[in-house]
Amino acid sequence: MHPVTRAIRTQVDRTNEMEHAQPMFLTSSFCFDNAEDMRAAFADETDDNIYSRFSNPNVQEFTDRMCALEGTESGFATASGMSAIFASFMAFLKQDDHLLSCRSIFGSTHTVVTKYLPKYGISHTYVDAAADIDAWQAAIRPETKMIYLETPTNPALEIIDITALSALAKKHGILLNVDNCFATPIGQRPAAFGADLVVHSATKWLDGQGRVLGGIVLGRKELIKEIYLFCRSTGPSLSPFNAWILSRSLETLEVRMEKHAASALAIAQALKDHPALKWVKYPFLPSHPQYAIAKKQMTSGGGIVCFELKGGLAAGQQFLDALQLLSLTANLGDTRSIASHPASTTHAKLSEAEREAVGISSGLIRLSVGLEHPDDILADIRQALDQLPA
Ligand SMILES: *Cc1c(COP(=O)(O)O)cnc(C)c1O
Repeated sequence: MHPVTRAIRTQVDRTNEMEHAQPMFLTSSFCFDNAEDMRAAFADETDDNIYSRFSNPNVQEFTDRMCALEGTESGFATASGMSAIFASFMAFLKQDDHLLSCRSIFGSTHTVVTKYLPKYGISHTYVDAAADIDAWQAAIRPETKMIYLETPTNPALEIIDITALSALAKKHGILLNVDNCFATPIGQRPAAFGADLVVHSATKWLDGQGRVLGGIVLGRKELIKEIYLFCRSTGPSLSPFNAWILSRSLETLEVRMEKHAASALAIAQALKDHPALKWVKYPFLPSHPQYAIAKKQMTSGGGIVCFELKGGLAAGQQFLDALQLLSLTANLGDTRSIASHPASTTHAKLSEAEREAVGISSGLIRLSVGLEHPDDILADIRQALDQLPA
């Protein structure tokens, strides 16, 4: 069966009530018939649920569905994307280890790498996302234990060749960890190109409706065992309620992503020669600098489009103020389209040079294309662009 079919049909065991939709297991702990069963569960001789910090049927269902979609053996779901990313670092890195990462990474991931990992003696090197493989190779040290990357990157949509990085990581016995938030498993399956770990913020496209936070780490059984042991003791587990929501969301992931991507491509094509814009970027626009890599590893360009306003920083804020339909909110991957201006918000604390180094120019607008009719999204963007001073 296709991954999507398996994901939709993977479900917690039906109870005696014979429900069609899955029930919610809002329980902190689980009961045992006798002391021997309880002993065996604690001794890992059975996989009975013990406590919802360790496992829960709704969380397991979401996890199993994500494994089907990403083509991985195992997974562990967490309370947010950041807790998934942090767990993936803490489970595999220790004092004196070195992390190699692409320079443009999600803001909070950057904070973890630069502020918290050093407290545990874990150092890092950033490599430009657009750099060739030799630059990555040159940055590897004997103590490098993990390569971490986002592709496409947030927000600048740079694309990194997962197959090439995986070959490099394997040659040096290093784990390759890929944040697949932007593409989703519908658009790209990093494990198929050799990634050892795949991390997600389920808060974005996986939920796709802006309702709950969640995250997940996916990979081979023996690696996920380490994630499980870390999370079981430290407690960033996903709530069963959020897992129930997220699991149902996965049933519509493919149809949603097809629509998001089709609208995003149409909007990117319609805007690409607009006189108020310096450029428009979308993974599946032939003008994208890494278009060939995108076509090689992605089956869909995803739902994010970026463009650069000729008017720079001031124009960015004027553009947001002129929008009537699109939401101004700190999220992406929703049914409703969202516009953001990183230079005046998420990346306002950086200097212009620091922003440029991670692909964030002053007039950069990131669009998260929703499920409204693409003509209406485009009409709102056009009328806002028309209001900018010439
Ligand atoms: C949002 C996001 C995260 C963090 O996820 P949360 O669920 O907000 O913790 C990590 N990586 C990327 C690329 C993101 O967009």
